[in-house]
Amino acid sequence: NLQMYAERIVVGGLSKGTLLVFRDITSETEAERLKSEFISTISHELRTPLSSIYGFTELMVKKQLPNEKQAKYLQTIHAETERLTHLVNDFLDVQRMEAGSQMYDREQLDVEPVIRDMMTFYEASSLKHQFELVTADDRPYELFADCQKFKQLMSNLLSNAVKYSPRGGKITVELAHHDQSISIKVKDQGIGIPSDALDRLFDKFYRVDNSDSREIGGTGLGLPICQEIVRGHAGQIHVESVQHQGSTFTVVIPSYEYAVREQETTTA
Ligand code: ADP
Repeated sequence: NLQMYAERIVVGGLSKGTLLVFRDITSETEAERLKSEFISTISHELRTPLSSIYGFTELMVKKQLPNEKQAKYLQTIHAETERLTHLVNDFLDVQRMEAGSQMYDREQLDVEPVIRDMMTFYEASSLKHQFELVTADDRPYELFADCQKFKQLMSNLLSNAVKYSPRGGKITVELAHHDQSISIKVKDQGIGIPSDALDRLFDKFYRVDNSDSREIGGTGLGLPICQEIVRGHAGQIHVESVQHQGSTFTVVIPSYEYAVREQETTTA
């Protein structure tokens, strides 16, 4: 995107010619576009749970409802409020990411039981998806990590695996030890990702633009947040996927042992 403007060169009151200035405004228009996309995504995503909360509370205020109906409506209101809280937290996380002010409260963390608990939770709340945790050996899988942030990372990856897989789809998490790191793979057999979208998947607000994904709501903030958390722990995240066959997200983070040794050598 080029913007052009002309400036007359005047020396001592005499016109000496015209200077044509070309300015590449690609990044500026891209920033503007992202900003308006951000606002429209936020408004759209906030409006859906809000209108549902508004509708159900109005019914409850205006109508005499039987107890079971009230209980059902309250459950929906509760779930939608939870969704709103998640959304607002994601927006705040992204804002912290931009400001570079994300803090990590690290501890020695055995990730296997954390992941197992989360999988049990998702198994109970998803549409009959089948979950399996595969470990390469019996040694503990320990990271020097912020437990809350690690849960947020896993929750984003697991909920995507559920969201973008059909009912009953199989979701596998594989843990493995490497020389200096631990790898966590989250595999699904869902809709997959077109190859031309893979490069942009971790960009903020990016969502694959096809009918499969469009029907499923989202903000395009989950994966950039995952990337930020992984990088905050000196790790890497990448994705492999075949459309209509499934996706595998791999996270590699330095092991607890390695991270602590590294920290000791840098502070020594
Ligand atoms: P959201 O799911 O809120 O749209 P994310 O940042 O988590 O945002 O993901 C970005 C996009 O990547 C999604 O919109 C979807 O198109 C694609 N995607 C993410 N995870 C998967 C997956 N497991 N299978 C297929 N597509 C996925």
